[in-house]
Amino acid sequence: MQVIELLNELLRFKSITPNDDGALNYIAMFMDEFETYNVEENGVKNLILTKRFGDGVHLCFGGHIDVVPPGDGWDSDAFSPRISDGYIYARGAQDMKSGLAAMLMAAKLSAQNTNFNGTLSLVITSDEEGEGLYGTKSVLNFMAKNGFLPQFGLIGEPTCDKIFGDCIKVGRRGSINGIITIKGKQGHAAYPQKCINPAHELARVFGDFAAYNLDEGDQRFEPSKIVITDIRGGMGVCNVTPENVRIMFNVRNSPLSDENDLKRHISKVFDGIDYELDLKVSSKPFITDINSKIVRALLDVVGRQCHEVPTLSTTGGTSDARFFAEFGVAVAEFGVVNDTIHKVNERVSIEQVQKLAQIYYDLIERFNVE
Ligand SMILES: [Zn+2]
Repeated sequence: MQVIELLNELLRFKSITPNDDGALNYIAMFMDEFETYNVEENGVKNLILTKRFGDGVHLCFGGHIDVVPPGDGWDSDAFSPRISDGYIYARGAQDMKSGLAAMLMAAKLSAQNTNFNGTLSLVITSDEEGEGLYGTKSVLNFMAKNGFLPQFGLIGEPTCDKIFGDCIKVGRRGSINGIITIKGKQGHAAYPQKCINPAHELARVFGDFAAYNLDEGDQRFEPSKIVITDIRGGMGVCNVTPENVRIMFNVRNSPLSDENDLKRHISKVFDGIDYELDLKVSSKPFITDINSKIVRALLDVVGRQCHEVPTLSTTGGTSDARFFAEFGVAVAEFGVVNDTIHKVNERVSIEQVQKLAQIYYDLIERFNVE
């Protein structure tokens, strides 16, 4: 089977997060050279494929079979892949059944014919697009408990920006969600002296709070900005002052700042105001050493295959790479161009998928050659 045939098979599964729609079973059967472990938690299915070739390093690919719902307005059925002008159209074509098909094909080929002398694993979850509570994190827990945590990780998310080969991700920003509720005393607009107006309290300090940078970033990270996402209060009328005003915000933070820096900033700015703060760290930032074997090997094989010098980036949202990093695995991400993910008529270039499978194969084959 060729990688495009495999991709077509994977695209037919209606694997809307966190349901794998039987795809993990299909993959386990297809990858019959590998030992399989099913890690199931809270109804979420995850699959580990692993094979030991020798005493060398343990390299692990990571991916997800789940996709976001297709939504309306597609030109053809989102789960019946359509080929046109060198592209395949289907939900998950870029994010990330293409990466998954490429890593499965590369691993299968390596299992049959290899120079690789370590352990090769694949971790496939059906819980990446949702909460991610029982996905890759649960699998890595299982691997740690059973003594086969990998040393190196490669995630096949679509990382390229404009040209295939232009971007490798070597870290990700964290994400902190916050809600500040300013408490006041509701009353008649004609008697402001008898009210405590939380909107007026907010007005005094808002400029110091919003659009503030917790740090100015560095060579690899953009500044960690406070971004306001919602402000609301009041009853939708002109003659009653609000009881409370609620401000919601998000910070994509670099490793230079954390939730304690944010708390310090807020308590300074809101000093003297009656408020409540609710902060939630939804993911922590990480950066992989760019001299790590995984980054160097990727730079080498991507450069050869694409004739591009990839930038080493940390932009975008979070990904499951953060879980690998939390377990001390040196992790990087590389996959196809990301320009239609989560959109109507999501599509992937056939040529890119074929090259990606070759890149993953070359990476495995070179991974024990210093
Ligand atoms: Zn994805």
